[in-house]
Amino acid sequence: MEAGNQLVPTAPIRSASEPILCTRVDSSGSGSGRWKRVVVVGGGISGSIVAKYLQYHADVVLIDQKEYFEIPWATMRTTVEPAIADKAVINHADYLVNGNLVVASAVGVTETEVVTSDGGRVGYDYLVVATGHSYSSPVVVDWNLSLFFSANLKMRSSSSVLIIGGGPSGVELASDIASNYPEKKVTLVHSGSRLLGFIGCKAGNKALEWLRSKNVDVLLEQTIDLNSLPDSNGIYITSAGEAIAADVHFVCVNNPLGSSWLQESVLSDRLDKRGQLMVDEHLRVKGRSNIFAVGDIVDIHERKQGILAQRHAAIVAKNLKAMLKGELAGKEGKEVKLGKYKPSVAIAMVSLGKKDAVAQLPFTTMSGFLPGLIKTREVFLRKTRKLLSV
Ligand SMILES: Cc1cc2nc3c(=O)[nH]c(=O)nc-3n(C[C@H](O)[C@H](O)[C@H](O)COP(=O)(O)OP(=O)(O)OC[C@H]3O[C@@H](n4cnc5c(N)ncnc54)[C@H](O)[C@@H]3O)c2cc1C
Repeated sequence: MEAGNQLVPTAPIRSASEPILCTRVDSSGSGSGRWKRVVVVGGGISGSIVAKYLQYHADVVLIDQKEYFEIPWATMRTTVEPAIADKAVINHADYLVNGNLVVASAVGVTETEVVTSDGGRVGYDYLVVATGHSYSSPVVVDWNLSLFFSANLKMRSSSSVLIIGGGPSGVELASDIASNYPEKKVTLVHSGSRLLGFIGCKAGNKALEWLRSKNVDVLLEQTIDLNSLPDSNGIYITSAGEAIAADVHFVCVNNPLGSSWLQESVLSDRLDKRGQLMVDEHLRVKGRSNIFAVGDIVDIHERKQGILAQRHAAIVAKNLKAMLKGELAGKEGKEVKLGKYKPSVAIAMVSLGKKDAVAQLPFTTMSGFLPGLIKTREVFLRKTRKLLSV
């Protein structure tokens, strides 16, 4: 495997200039000798599902910054329970058994090709943009999972922990540490006036109550300068001048949206002010007939949630299957009836330790043991792995 542009092929990848000839049997039985190429950029939950669903209907190429999918809703738990880390990480090659994987960052897109960080060019007939957020995770999964074990070791060997950020990651991590290691002094610093700003006020207050009941010191409307972290020497000064002593810190602030690579591309005018891709009701990028977008990157007015990203992926996979089928039947250029996506509301759930959770339902907020039964014990690991058939 080469560094930089690591290719983990399940079949050899062709260069963009080579003809795209089908050497496989089309499971739809259409008998065509030529498969169109669908390039999916981003291997989070939405991109992985699209790639998996289409792999027997097209020549699928998945481009991701890393060779694996890390289940975001389980990663916080791995810090206190590193034993589940091997389940929270899924190699793309494990579910993409009839496609190609390019491990690289996409840095640009033209009318016909995706350009990668190492200068590679991958031609496409159809493109699916699924680069929700950018992550700084390692490119190659370390199957000793030492990353998770070292985070756990650091946390276990400390007597005081600072968590920066009071969104779902920060709250879940603080609650996991507080309930597993009640003897540790946990401090959570959050810039907002309430925790969990992405859901209702009540949910944030319930999470705050829960954390304080477990002796977590929660400081609201304060920040820690992230640039000062390397020189902290165990003493962290907040924007309000408070000094916090902690043996270890965890940064749990939002990752930036993964759309900077589109800024100089043919899709630059399809980005809104927040860097989201504007899509139509079929989840096609507005004004484009062969480019779709799914997951956190789209400009749909709904919460950014994995459960909704999965719904986007299912619609796009269905639409692409219909378009590919239409072309195989010689209906190229003719109108194919596409499925529509309706923005939806899903339950938002943040776990609080291993038993409780706070859940935002459409008309009410619940907290405690009952919502905890749904998410908390195994953080949807089995369900997510089942989705990708691993
Ligand atoms: C701690 C935490 C808990 C959560 N809990 C829940 C929950 O319980 N339920 C729920 O529904 N949602 C939850 N979410 C939200 C959910 O994780 C996201 O909505 C979902 O992961 C979005 O999926 P996605 O496919 O859009 O992209 P992402 O998961 O953001 O993945 C994007 C992928 O694209 C890759 N990428 C980015 N830029 C490039 C590039 N230029 N080139 C190549 N690859 C690129 C990234 O490496 C990544 O693999 C949680 C999130 C967090 C952080």
